[in-house]
Amino acid sequence: MPRDARIAPNCYDAEPIPEAARAEIERLLSTGDLFRYTSEDAPVARLEAEFAAHMGVSYAIAVSSCSQALFLAMKALDLPAGARVLVPAFTFAAVPSAIVHAGCVPVLVEVDDSLRIDPLDFRAKLEGADAVLISHMRGHTSDMDMIMDEAEARGLPVIEDAAHSLGTTWHGRKIGTIGRIGCFSFQSYKLLNAGEGGVMITDDPELAARAIIMSGAYEHNWKKHPGLTARCEAWQNRLPLYNCRMQNLSAAILLPQLGEISRRAADGLRNHDHVAERLGESRWLSVPPALPPETRAPDSLQFLLSGDWSDEEARAFQAEAKAQGVSVSVFGLSTDNARAFWNWQFLTDLPDLPKTRAMLMRACDIRLPARLTQPDLEFIADALLEAVAQVKPA
Ligand SMILES: *Cc1c(COP(=O)(O)O)cnc(C)c1O
Repeated sequence: MPRDARIAPNCYDAEPIPEAARAEIERLLSTGDLFRYTSEDAPVARLEAEFAAHMGVSYAIAVSSCSQALFLAMKALDLPAGARVLVPAFTFAAVPSAIVHAGCVPVLVEVDDSLRIDPLDFRAKLEGADAVLISHMRGHTSDMDMIMDEAEARGLPVIEDAAHSLGTTWHGRKIGTIGRIGCFSFQSYKLLNAGEGGVMITDDPELAARAIIMSGAYEHNWKKHPGLTARCEAWQNRLPLYNCRMQNLSAAILLPQLGEISRRAADGLRNHDHVAERLGESRWLSVPPALPPETRAPDSLQFLLSGDWSDEEARAFQAEAKAQGVSVSVFGLSTDNARAFWNWQFLTDLPDLPKTRAMLMRACDIRLPARLTQPDLEFIADALLEAVAQVKPA
């Protein structure tokens, strides 16, 4: 049955911001109280308290983006200039950029067809490393048991880039709480949407105090962060101010979304697993499985063109899916893709990473928001299967 691409589901729109945000936004607009440190009990402070409670950690520091949270994390750890930071080579360009911004050197680690870090390459590159930044790209969790064991054996701090992993668990433990520091994004394509924004979480009061000051809690503004007064006072005037604070409007938009986390995570997983199962009908497509300890919270789907595919066939599949109404991006086949490491030419000595490259040339990416309906999911699965059938006749 031919599909009508004009009725394809819209995979780009976010969910509406809950109605409950409106009164608070109106109050902020009418008072002009947008700066987080003007009043006591500001929306940003409430967001930090509620997010920390949700994650079960001691401290949350809200900032302007996840990339800034990653930068602050490295600064809070006091990594020296030139420190070597291991990072998966399958991530978003802003992640190695944050490492460069912190004066450190990204050491790219191979990611294989599982879309997760290659343990052999990780172990090989630990020698000489100063820190580990695990980017859970597209919410795929690398083997955190192996990573924590190896890092702890060498005394290396682990930062989790959990930008896209809110709601994901590992052995039942929330992703972002396993390393010393976890960082999340509130950019519109993530589970909580403020347009832009991020947060850094930790249980370590020293790291929290340092990050608070450097985020821009100048003079005595740090007094508005509960429980950290003595630590912050000790760092007063001794750290640079990188001014990457969150403002109150962002927090007002986020606060009523916190109650949606588990529903969005569960719906996203149900959508993902249904479409993944449907794609299993074709021997030419495969969806990398979650690792056994992992419960995912996806809002997108990644699958591999498996078996023998030429670049031309992969491009033809992309074009055919588009004609059927579904936008598929093969990471390595679109010009200037920010997730293809060979485009990170701001890095000196870009290595060749054959496993990651081969994966990126056949790994497909589609958006699959939690709000999609069952007919939407069937439309997407049918369109993808039809596109394969056009390129790879039985
Ligand atoms: C979105 C994303 C980032 C960047 O987040 P920003 O808030 O836009 O800086 C970093 N890492 C991953 C894995 C992401 O998905």
